[in-house]
Amino acid sequence: MPVLAATFRIFNTRTRQVEPVDPVTPGKLRFYSCGPTVYSYAHIGNFRSFLSADLIYRTARAAGLDVSYVTNVTDVGHLTLDDLSDPAGEDRMVKALNSKEGEQFANIWDLARYYTKVLIEDWKSLNLLEPTVRPRATDHIREQISAVQQLLESGHAYETDKGIYFDVSKFAAYGELSGNTDAVELAPTERNIVTDDQKRDSRDFALWKKDSAHLMQWYSPWGWGFPGWHIECSVMSMSYLGEEIDIHAGGEDLIFPHHECEIAQSESLTGKTFARHWVHTRFLQVEGQKMSKRAGNFYTVRDLISPQEEGGRGIDPLAVRMTLMSGHYRKPFNFTFETLKANIRHRQRFEEAMAQVQLAQKQALAGPDELGKPLARLRERAFGAMLDDLNTPEALAAAIEGVKLILSVGKTINASSSASASDWLKTINRLLGIVSAEYEEIKRSEASDFGKKVELLIEERKQARSSRDFTRADAIRDSLSAMGIALMDTPEGVVWKRLSNLD
Ligand SMILES: [Zn+2]
Repeated sequence: MPVLAATFRIFNTRTRQVEPVDPVTPGKLRFYSCGPTVYSYAHIGNFRSFLSADLIYRTARAAGLDVSYVTNVTDVGHLTLDDLSDPAGEDRMVKALNSKEGEQFANIWDLARYYTKVLIEDWKSLNLLEPTVRPRATDHIREQISAVQQLLESGHAYETDKGIYFDVSKFAAYGELSGNTDAVELAPTERNIVTDDQKRDSRDFALWKKDSAHLMQWYSPWGWGFPGWHIECSVMSMSYLGEEIDIHAGGEDLIFPHHECEIAQSESLTGKTFARHWVHTRFLQVEGQKMSKRAGNFYTVRDLISPQEEGGRGIDPLAVRMTLMSGHYRKPFNFTFETLKANIRHRQRFEEAMAQVQLAQKQALAGPDELGKPLARLRERAFGAMLDDLNTPEALAAAIEGVKLILSVGKTINASSSASASDWLKTINRLLGIVSAEYEEIKRSEASDFGKKVELLIEERKQARSSRDFTRADAIRDSLSAMGIALMDTPEGVVWKRLSNLD
């Protein structure tokens, strides 16, 4: 397929309008999407937001961009009240360990490992592509400490008996992303849960929490403790993608305070625009109701896709994927079993179309290509829809129409028509991920991108060492080790090997 001079346009929460994606480096896209806190099974609402990230990744690649896609795992520091304000409540990981479900885990590290493994399994089941890098917050504590130190030195942060806080009054653009700019208005909602009376302003948020009793703690210049949730993402985004990136994404619940705080601390550190585009996915409801365990309408991905003998409903994961894509990411989404049933039927038609194409390849009937042109038009329609602010309902409609067209030719489909049909199914799958699980195929090509990134970092480290910048050289070695890469100095120079994968 020729590389199209395609413009990818997407809504930017910071400017409140649909804008073309305009990469810092032309042709490259640096993309960070906030991953989950791994204290439980991810639910379908979490996955709707991860799916938007997957579709940004797929669409940008189809538009010819070379994408570096980072999505993290938060395994420390996210408190139960962080979503309302900061910093209060219990650590979500600790709370999970102390719950009934937590009894099966030997310790908190075991719990984090288990839910990370489950996350990646669900990720693959729903045919989400593997990111270029999936860093864990606990692998980047040293960089977080050093970012906090820099903020203290530059006067953007201050210390109390309980921790280090970012001083919001030092960052004029605080509130620009979310529209929460009024300190007086914010204060009453926060007053009740703020636990540190040495905080200078109720809006100030924690960068580091002093806590020598916490189950996960690290030694810092301020004693034992653990990092604030917001600083984790800033540091991971900057260490893999650089100080200025193109798109930062997440669920709408992350706009405030998480992303607002990420912008404040990152831009105070670098003086640069942290992310050009901010993309947020709206909430999901089930059958018109807020999803909650008490209402009995709470669904994890596993509840839907696991086989019945394992307590699930045994639903085709790609039908779940199609359902989550059937509403636009920027509108509140109502997940219904009626839509799910319709998508199970659509998926069966996709399977029939693939079987028909395979049969035609065996039969090899002669005849003109009847499908090439109309399918090409439908492919352009689907691609055009995705480039236009991820219009998934329109892209899915085009895909469903294409399958109907293939099936309308019937069993007598000739070889040239079936070749066009086969190409079309592959292209639609690359763009939307709804035809078949393609994980293995993509993983191989990602592996080479990963290799390139490693080589680049090794070269950077070599240069840092030759200019005697050993701090930088060590920081690069740490980043590589967080990526699961071990370096060995040999007579032929530095060689690297991959130690392990997250899964
Ligand atoms: Zn984040």
